[in-house]
Amino acid sequence: MADVPSREELRERLDPLQYHVTQEGGTEYAGTGKYNKHKEPGTYVCICCGAELFASDEKYDSGSGWPSYWQPAEDAAVRIQRDESHSMVREEVRCARCDAHLGHRFDDGPPPTGQRYCINSAALDFRPAPPT
Ligand code: FE
Repeated sequence: MADVPSREELRERLDPLQYHVTQEGGTEYAGTGKYNKHKEPGTYVCICCGAELFASDEKYDSGSGWPSYWQPAEDAAVRIQRDESHSMVREEVRCARCDAHLGHRFDDGPPPTGQRYCINSAALDFRPAPPT
């Protein structure tokens, strides 16, 4: 795809944690990510390709130690894939545009969806909403 960065480009541009999370399915330590308690209005985008993934309106405090959202900005923004690593069956969340690993989805979220998109800060960049 035209706007999907290559692995080589990502290895140069991303820091080691961002690369590990998005390209190797890694997980940042709970409570350490820069967007864990971030509450500004705006849009969270993929650190790799810039696709809009989550809106600040859909972020909530799950207490998990990772940024948590009850739905993506658009259903088509993310792709859900079965993940059987670490002796668990989980739903992995990936960027639909560039396939970056973002985090996992659980079914213990708040209404109206009941879902918790548990996302690594290292997979995200933030674009503040324009002042109103
Ligand atoms: Fe992406």
